[in-house]
Amino acid sequence: MEQSYLDNLVGVFGHPVAENPTCVMQDAAFQHLGIRWKYLTIEVLPEDLGKAITGMRAMNMRGINLTIPHKVAVIEHLDEVAPDAAIMGAVNTVRRDGARLIGENTDGKGFLRSLTEDAGLDPAGKKVMVLGAGGASRAICVELANAGVQRIDLVNRSAGRADALLELLRRNTEVDVRFHKWDSTVGVPGDADILVNATSIGLFPEVTALPDVDMQTIREGLVVCDVIPNPPQTSFLQRAGERGAVTLDGLGMLVYQGAIGFKMWTGLDAPVDVMRQALQNVFG
Ligand code: NDP
Repeated sequence: MEQSYLDNLVGVFGHPVAENPTCVMQDAAFQHLGIRWKYLTIEVLPEDLGKAITGMRAMNMRGINLTIPHKVAVIEHLDEVAPDAAIMGAVNTVRRDGARLIGENTDGKGFLRSLTEDAGLDPAGKKVMVLGAGGASRAICVELANAGVQRIDLVNRSAGRADALLELLRRNTEVDVRFHKWDSTVGVPGDADILVNATSIGLFPEVTALPDVDMQTIREGLVVCDVIPNPPQTSFLQRAGERGAVTLDGLGMLVYQGAIGFKMWTGLDAPVDVMRQALQNVFG
């Protein structure tokens, strides 16, 4: 079927956004499926976000991703926000339903899909320790709680962000959540099934940085996940793997959150292997 090129524009708004790698994986997916879609990387200043969303509506763009600093601020410009994104208070993907713009958050969903498809693990009933209480942690904790995990041990350096996350989990979900202030080396509880590094520790170029975790408490069979997509094999995952843990990298989360957005926009199943390979080529 012949399609109008301009009907099939998507992209990302951010500031700064030049280094954002998402265009590479989305365009690779469009090309692989032979569809005439294009992903644009667009620098938008915070004070221009409302105008950018108006422009996106006027240009009939099919959807948009939001990255720093727009994930929270975008909400007031949308017609509707999906329930899980409303709980998180953050939107990373906007999709269209006719003229209506709907806010979604695919970060936590991408993490869950990586957990179930790449690690073969159903999180229901599991006990999870999560390091960090920022945006990535928030998305992951809400989706883990919605997926029926039994307990979340939340570890964070500062109490402020952790308190806000604890409160929203207690108010909106059934999960048993406990806070541990991260002011010295933290140990993984003996009954934990999953450990998630949801901090930015280890992100390129700080590739040798390690979260302050007692590695002796990482035992064989524990599933250890990192949200860091670049480098995919972080020093932390490497060490956890040496202790016999099952490791899951942040590249999977990044690919699947994009794949879920791709499906929301195009209605098609995303070619996840093509998207992963495209990102791997960028990250080297
Ligand atoms: P935020 O800035 O919102 O949160 C960062 C978190 O890391 C906070 O909890 C912060 O603690 C903690 N932190 C940072 N440095 C340290 C340190 N030295 N010691 C202890 N704690 C530390 O960032 P995001 O949550 O948005 O992003 C976190 C990471 O997740 C980034 O590396 C990002 O690339 C990655 N990410 C990956 C995605 C994927 O698809 N794979 C998707 C989204 C994000 P405190 O509150 O005390 O400051």
